[in-house]
Amino acid sequence: MPQNILVTGGAGYIGSHACKALRSAGYVPVTFDSLTTGWEEAVKFGPFEKGDLMDRARLDEVFARWKPAAVMHFAALSQVGEAMREPGKYWRGNVCASLNLIEAAVAAGCLDFVFSSTCATYGDHDGVMLDEDTPQMPLNSYGASKRAIEDMLRDFGAAHGLRSVIFRYFNVAGADPDGEVGEFHQPETHLIPLMLDAIEGKRAALTVFGTDYPTEDGTCIRDYVHVMDLVEAHVLGLKWLEAGHLAGAGGSRVFCLGTGRGFSVREVIEQSRAVTNREVPIVIGGRRAGDAVKLVSGSERAMAELGWEPRRSTMAQMVGDAWRWHQTGSYAK
Ligand code: UDP
Repeated sequence: MPQNILVTGGAGYIGSHACKALRSAGYVPVTFDSLTTGWEEAVKFGPFEKGDLMDRARLDEVFARWKPAAVMHFAALSQVGEAMREPGKYWRGNVCASLNLIEAAVAAGCLDFVFSSTCATYGDHDGVMLDEDTPQMPLNSYGASKRAIEDMLRDFGAAHGLRSVIFRYFNVAGADPDGEVGEFHQPETHLIPLMLDAIEGKRAALTVFGTDYPTEDGTCIRDYVHVMDLVEAHVLGLKWLEAGHLAGAGGSRVFCLGTGRGFSVREVIEQSRAVTNREVPIVIGGRRAGDAVKLVSGSERAMAELGWEPRRSTMAQMVGDAWRWHQTGSYAK
């Protein structure tokens, strides 16, 4: 019997790719999604349960119905700009909602948990290469809310035997090379899809948020990971838990998922011009509040302990896959 995995946010960008990877690995991904930012059309690889994480009774019902072997928790609010303007939305929507989910999982005896955390929990560290032991000093409520959820998972591990894999990921990009799912946010706030919109003339120009950062070309540096590599790590994390690595007392293990290579905003624009063979119209804007200067990490631990290898995470492949999806794929409510 294939195992059911409860995937919160399975109708979203990363969650829908994770469902595809789970199904390919022989699991049944059960999507739990409120469709506030997700798309029902993106739920293609397993059953769909519409619901809100704030609704504990609904969660209990879903756990009882599907008896998932594990949870993959992607559902979250994830925009830095919005988090700066509306911190309450992030503390409630991320922390309170995740607390509900964790409590429901523990009550149902579902103790394997894979959590999508973020490099936004780190804040600025003078451009050093980040790793799992770098202190977390988030600059915005998005990062702070994710750090709080990491702490909750550790506490529930100690008290209730919850076993969690926490992935701190860097900037996710690209799309399913088969074109079944891709990135589609409304409104869009992320660099690469906004840039592709500008290339296609769907928006007048891409605004570069700040050219006065202490980096070589003055723009922020991020570490971009292909979404298919990222979700592959989640399946490996799940198998790592299944293999009994945190069995017994419960506990938590953090893995950074980066490539160790940072790209400045200007470099991303340059590479995209080369891949698409089209001009990228840009305007120079001011800094976006809450942005760290440089977020780059290696993934030695994930490679050594999970056997992860970011095979598709070249900028050319990420922009190429995103560009193909951009021209053919979208969802509608
Ligand atoms: N960025 C930009 N213009 C945009 C959107 C993003 O210059 O319209 C920059 C942003 O300041 C950051 C990088 O691109 O340095 C990646 O931002 P994104 O929002 O894609 O991801 P984040 O790093 O916030 O998770």
